[in-house]
Amino acid sequence: MPREAKYDVLFEPIQIGPHTLKNRFWQVPHCNGAGSDRPGFQAAFRGMKAEGGWSAVFTEVCSIAPGGDVMPWVASKLWDAGDVRNLREMTDAIHAHDALAGVELCHPGGLAANAETRAPAKVVSQIASDINYLANGRALSKREIAALRREHVEGFKRAKDAGFDLLTFYAGLGTFPIYFLYPFYNKRTDEYGGSFENRIRFTREVLEDLRSEVDGVAIGMRFVIDTLEDPYGYGDLGVRANGEGKDFIAALDHLVDYWDLNVGTLNWGEDAGSSRFFDTNHEAEYVKVAKQATSKPCINVGRFTDPDVMIGVINSGQADIIGAARPSIADPFLPKKIEEGRFEDIRECIGCNVCVSRWEMGGPPIWCTQNPTSGEEYRRGWHPEKFSTARNADKPVLVVGAGPAGMEAAVVLGKRGFEAVHLVDAGSEMGGHLNWMTTMPGLRAWRRVAEYRERQISKLDNVQFIPNTRMSAQDVREYGAEIVIVATGAHWAGDGMNTPTHDPIAGADATRPDVATPEQLVVEGKQLGDHVLVVDGDGYHMASTTAEFLARQGRRVTYATHWETLGPYLRYTLEEQRMYQRLTELGVTILSQHLVLSYEPGKAQLVHLWGGNEVTLDVDSLALVTGRYSDSALYDELADDQAALDEAGISQLHLVGDAHSPGIIAQATFSGHRLAREIDSPNPDVPLPYIRERRLVGATEDDYTLGAATLLG
Ligand code: ADP
Ligand code: SF4
Repeated sequence: MPREAKYDVLFEPIQIGPHTLKNRFWQVPHCNGAGSDRPGFQAAFRGMKAEGGWSAVFTEVCSIAPGGDVMPWVASKLWDAGDVRNLREMTDAIHAHDALAGVELCHPGGLAANAETRAPAKVVSQIASDINYLANGRALSKREIAALRREHVEGFKRAKDAGFDLLTFYAGLGTFPIYFLYPFYNKRTDEYGGSFENRIRFTREVLEDLRSEVDGVAIGMRFVIDTLEDPYGYGDLGVRANGEGKDFIAALDHLVDYWDLNVGTLNWGEDAGSSRFFDTNHEAEYVKVAKQATSKPCINVGRFTDPDVMIGVINSGQADIIGAARPSIADPFLPKKIEEGRFEDIRECIGCNVCVSRWEMGGPPIWCTQNPTSGEEYRRGWHPEKFSTARNADKPVLVVGAGPAGMEAAVVLGKRGFEAVHLVDAGSEMGGHLNWMTTMPGLRAWRRVAEYRERQISKLDNVQFIPNTRMSAQDVREYGAEIVIVATGAHWAGDGMNTPTHDPIAGADATRPDVATPEQLVVEGKQLGDHVLVVDGDGYHMASTTAEFLARQGRRVTYATHWETLGPYLRYTLEEQRMYQRLTELGVTILSQHLVLSYEPGKAQLVHLWGGNEVTLDVDSLALVTGRYSDSALYDELADDQAALDEAGISQLHLVGDAHSPGIIAQATFSGHRLAREIDSPNPDVPLPYIRERRLVGATEDDYTLGAATLLG
C-alpha cells in the first residue's frame, strides 16, 4: 500500500552543509559494542541502517586522541591511520546505500580513565570525575589548551580521511565543550572561565580552526541544550534551554551546519529515557527552543517510532530531521517501511534500554529485545528482513508455547518457507508471560514484543496459531509434526530459592494465602496483607515492579535485596534513579544488602549481608521475586524417550527461551530466532560458529572474512 501524502514531508531532501540528506531520517550516534576495533561488525551494523533507508548513519562516540580512552566502554577511535582504515569499512558500507556517514567526535577529557593508554588525563579544572573512579588530572595550561585544539583538528581530518561526510563535534556527556561551558566543571579564572564568552571560547576556537582547515564535509554539533533540574541534572551549574542553551547555539550558529539536540547529563537516562518513565518525544519542551536561535537544520530525538508523531515534530517546527537511536536498532528498516506504507511491519522499540545496558556494562556487543539480529549482521550474517529457505522446510513443525521465544521461532520459520508451522499455546492468546507482565505498572509498551509478532504471524499463511490447547507429551507425539520446538517458559519460584544462599527461604511457601509470586499477584489476583515484604534475588526490574504494583494497591511495602542497590541491572538500563524515586514516593522502604533468612506471618528475619546485624520486620505477607524455575517437564519427558520420538516420526526436538534458561525477553527472542535461523544446520541445538574479530597470528585478510567455521577447521 503506498504511503499517504501526509508522510511525504519525511522524505523531502534537505541540505546539510555541502551535502544533501535524501530524507529526514537520521540515525544519531549510539553505541553497539563494535567501536573501531571490530570493523566488520561496525560496517555491517551501520550499513544495515543505510540499507533500511536512514539517510544519515553515525558511529557511536568516537575518541579523537589516545588521551581520551574510555575503556572499558567501547567507543570508536580515530587515533591513527589504522583506525581510519577500519572505520572506512563503515563509511563504504553506508555509501553503498546512498546514505551519508557521520561520526561523533570528541575528547572525553577527565571522564576518560585512560585504562588502556595510561595517558595522563586532561581536565578544565582540577576536580575528580563525577562518574569514573580514578579519573582526575591537573587543570589544563593555556599551552595545553592550544595543543588540545590541534588534537581536535587532526582528529577531524582523520575522520574526513575515513570517508565521513557529517562530522559532529560532540558537546555532551563528558566532552570538552561542556567541561568549559558548565560552571559545574569550569572553575577557571583566566580567559577560558567566568563569563559565558570565556566558557565557549575553546569551542569557538576549535570550530574556527575546523572551518579554515577541514572542507568538503558538513560540520555540526551534538549539543545538550538543557542539563535539567536537580536531582536529575546540574541546575544552575549547567545550562538551561531558555538560557545559555539557546545562547550557545546563537553564538556558534555561523560556524556549524546542523544541530543535533538532546538533554541531560552523565545520567543519560534522562535522554535515553526508558518507556517506564518517559513518553515518546519527551524532550520536546526543551529542544524546540533551539529553533529560535538557529537557521540551521535541527535534529531531535525522542524514541520516535510512530510516523504520525514524526510528522508532528516537523510540521510543528520543533525540528527538521527525525533523530533516532533505539528505534533504528529495533528496526533498521523503519524509514523504508514508512516509505512503503508498511506500518504493520514496523518493529517498534519498546523503550526497555537493554541495548543501552550492554554499553553501560562496558564491553559486550549490543542486544535488542525486539530485534534479535542486532549486532549479528556481520558475525552471524543475519539480515533483519531477509531469510533463506530452509533445507528441511517440507517438514511439519510444532512449536509449543507462544511466548516471545515460541512466537519468534514461528515467525522466522514461517519466513524461511516452512510449509506448515503450528504454534500451540495453553492460553487464549499469544504473548506468554508478557500477557500478565505487561499489565504491571509501566510495562505496557513491552507488549509490543507480542504485538509485532502477532501481526507478522497473521500475515504468514504457513503459520497457524492454535490457542487454548495444553499439550502433553503424548499429544505432541501424536500431533504429526516432524520438528518439535518446546518454548514453554518458566515461573517464579514459590519457595524463595534465591541466589545468595542457594536455598529456599525458611517459611516461604507460595501455596499459602499470605505468600505470592508475581504471576499469582497478577494472574490469580492473589491479595496480600497490609505490610508486604518483597524479596529481590533477581536483580532486574521484576521486584521493583512488584513493589510498585503492591504499593499502588495501598499496601505498605518493604523491599529487601542482598544486592548493593535496588535491582542493580536497572543501573545499566539507566532506570535506577527514577525507580528509586518512584518507590520512595510511594512510601516503599528499601533495604539493600539484606538477606531474608526466614518468614512467618507477622515476622520476617533479615540479616545485613556484610555487617551480620539482624533485623526483624513486622510484615504480614511475602512477595517472592527470588529466582525462576524452567517449565521444561514437557521437553524432558519427550527427550527422555527417544524410541517414542522415533516411532512418532519426530526427527528434531528442541528447547528454547525461558524453558531452557530463564532470562530477559531479549534472550528469549534471540533464542527462538537463533534456533529458527539454524534449524537446518547439522545440530541446531549447538549454535553455529560465528566470526570472531580478533588478531590472528599469521593471518591473511581472508582468514578474517571467511568465517569462524573455516578458522576452526
Ligand atoms: P518465553 O519467554 O520463553 O517465550 P513464556 O513464559 O513467555 O516463555 O511463554 C511460555 C508459553 O508456553 C505460555 O504462554 C504458556 O501458556 C505456554 N505453555 C506452557 N506449557 C504449555 C503446554 N504444555 N502446552 C501448551 N502451551 C504451554
Ligand atoms: Fe528498544 Fe529495547 Fe531494542 Fe533498545 S533493546 S532498541 S530499548 S527494544
